[in-house]
Formats: sequence, structure tokens, C-alpha cells
Amino acid sequence: DPGGNVRVVVRVRAFLPREIQRNAECLITMDPIRQVTTLLIPNDSDPANSRAKSRRVIEEKAFTFDNSFWSHNTDDHHYATQEDVYNSLGEEFLDHNFEGYHTCIFAYGQTGSGKSYTMMGTPDQPGLIPRTCEDLFERIAHAQSETPNISYNVRVSYFEVYNEHVRDLLVPVVPNQPPYYLKIRESPTEGPYVKDLTEVPVRNIQEILRHMRTGDASRTTASTKMNDTSSRSHAVFTIMLKQIHHDMETDETTERSSRIRLVDLAGSERAKSTEATGARLREGSNINKSLTTLGRVIAALADPKQSQSRGGRRRRGGVGGGGRDAVVPYRDSILTWLLKDSLGGNSKTAMIACIAPSDYEETLSTLRYADQAKRIRTRAVVNQDSVS
Ligand code: ADP
Ligand code: MG
Repeated sequence: DPGGNVRVVVRVRAFLPREIQRNAECLITMDPIRQVTTLLIPNDSDPANSRAKSRRVIEEKAFTFDNSFWSHNTDDHHYATQEDVYNSLGEEFLDHNFEGYHTCIFAYGQTGSGKSYTMMGTPDQPGLIPRTCEDLFERIAHAQSETPNISYNVRVSYFEVYNEHVRDLLVPVVPNQPPYYLKIRESPTEGPYVKDLTEVPVRNIQEILRHMRTGDASRTTASTKMNDTSSRSHAVFTIMLKQIHHDMETDETTERSSRIRLVDLAGSERAKSTEATGARLREGSNINKSLTTLGRVIAALADPKQSQSRGGRRRRGGVGGGGRDAVVPYRDSILTWLLKDSLGGNSKTAMIACIAPSDYEETLSTLRYADQAKRIRTRAVVNQDSVS
């Protein structure tokens, strides 16, 4: 199914020490059969949810997603480990990459909801990115032993979007030097891209993990200096996979190129602070532009009819259908412009909505956002070319 919908899954994390300390209550239930996630009404005792109480929340909210991962308490029969998340999402997406499709998985949610844990994980509990890398090279090794007439080429890049600037995470940070930003360009065939972005060839799992850690460290290094960058920046890890197949009988060579994008978005609570006015708006004017624009892009893609311009004729959004793209505000921010294809074009795409267990307002907003993303359809095609 090339015109598939964006896959939307939800994951709830365990209590953090501070939540246990304040005696927080878990407001989430998940039905693992029907994949229904319910957000319960907070009780009076938790000060973190006082705003919800003052708004007299009287209704439970229920949402259905493609998958729901219960990672709240390990003693639960349905507890979802890092491996479970990989097995039910990452593995299938890697299948698509070997078939020649571009994919994108992005993690959305408030700061502290488990986005980085899900995407990157810890040395003991590796997340989707290291697991994808490992599986990728295992598959290549296996395929090469079976079919010697296929060769593989893997390259990796890693950048972050911070304050509407693109920073290359594979270039070492020079101490006492201002950060170096890259420009965006557009190619008629490839669409928007980051000019001069480092793309390193990698031959094995050790090499790719080394670059992954370099980039991750670069993101963290900057964040201690620049006051919590990681919650304000979007990190985009990309693996380019090229499969070159030579058919001995016909002497024909074909190339399949796919792009694996894994995105750790800025904390979603930032989207709201830009709506503030005055001093706060000036202070953070650009920081959240990518996130607020992402919201508008998702809204426009989810309801293409509603966002058609007034008086304009409705056109079917076929491949390259300008009628549809014209009203989606991709160009309004760096992130949405760079991820244009992943959001509404040639890609199989998934969103992981990460939620904290006891934060009514932010969780409701994340679940609503995710619910809207379910309606987005992308148009993935196999990227294959004859080269001889
Ligand atoms: P974010 O990237 O969304 O700001 P993090 O991934 O850094 O959030 O998670 C916040 C904290 O919660 C971290 O200490 C992380 O280790 C922990 N955490 C998140 N998800 C889980 C989980 N599924 N199981 C255990 N700990 C988790
Ligand atoms: Mg994070």
C-alpha cells in the first residue's frame, strides 16, 4: 500500500523519582487488545494537575492508536521493553528500507516524556536508533553471504535544528568558537537538503555507533552551555542505504536507494510558549517556530479539504499535486521544510507519541496531536534506478 497512513503509536514511561516523591498518580490506562489509551481525570492531591482541576475536567478521554506501549511498570504483564518497541515498529520499517522505501520515525512529546529514551536509549537499554543500526548491518552481512551479486553502501548524517539554525552534529564543537551553521538548499530531484552536511560512509556497526555517539555528545555538550538545548532542538539522524544489484543473466545493474530518518523532536511544551506575547515571544521567537509550524503542517495534511484556500478549486493530491502542497506551510520553518517528504510525500512515516504518566494537560495535548497525525497519508514509492 503505497498511500499508507502515518503510523501512530503511543508510549507511557515509568514514574521518575520526583514523581514518586510527590506521590503522583498514574492517569493513563492502555487496553493492549483494542489499543485504546485512556487519560483519566486527575484527583485533587497532585499539585502538578491543579490547572486541569481548576478547569473542572469531568470526562475521561480515550484515543485509539496503531499501537500502545505500556512502559510504566515492569511488573505488568504487558510491559513494553525497548526491544518490544523495536520489534513492533523498527524492524518492519527496516524491511521497507530494504524494499527501497524511504522511512521516517519521529518522537513527539513534552520534555521528560521519554523521546530520547525511545530513540537513543541508554547503553544498557538501547533505543530505536542503535537497534536499527545493528539490525541493518546484520542483514547486510547475511545478504552478502547469500547473494554475492548485491553490494551495499551505507552513509550516515546527524544534524540538529535549533533556533531555526542547522548544526552539523558530526563536526566536532570547537571550544570558544561560535557554533557553525549550515544553509538549506533545494534540488529539483531531491528536494530540500542541508548544504555541506557531513555524510560519512560507514562499513560496520562499530563505525556507525561511533558516529551516533559523537553526534549525541555534540548535542549534549552544547546543551550544558546553551541552557537546555536538547529540549529545544530537533535532532535528525539519517541513514542512507544504497543496494546495488547486478543481474548476471541480463548484465543489468539496478540501484535501490532508501533513506532512514529518525527524529527526536524538541519538547512539545515549547510549542505553546511561542504563543505567549511580549517579552517571552521576543525571547524565544525562533526557538519554537519549527515546532509550531510542524503543528500547522500536520493539521493541514490531516484535513486537506479544510485547508484549501478559499475559492480555490479542490484538486486531488496526486504525486506532485501542487494543489495540495500549495496550502501546506512546509516552507515556514526549517524543520518542516527539511522533512517535507517525510511528512507528506515519498516516505513511510511513523510518529511515536511519548507521554508522562501523570501530567494531564500536556498529555492531553500530545494525544490530540497524535490523533490528528493518524489522518495523514503519505505516498511512498520504491526508489529504484537502472544504472547500466
Ligand atoms: P525527553 O527526551 O522526552 O525529554 P527522556 O527520554 O530524556 O525524555 O526521558 C526522561 C527520563 O525518563 C530519563 O531519565 C529517562 O531515562 C526516563 N525514561 C523515559 N522513558 C523511560 C522508559 N520507558 N523506561 C524507563 N525510563 C524511562
Ligand atoms: Mg530528550
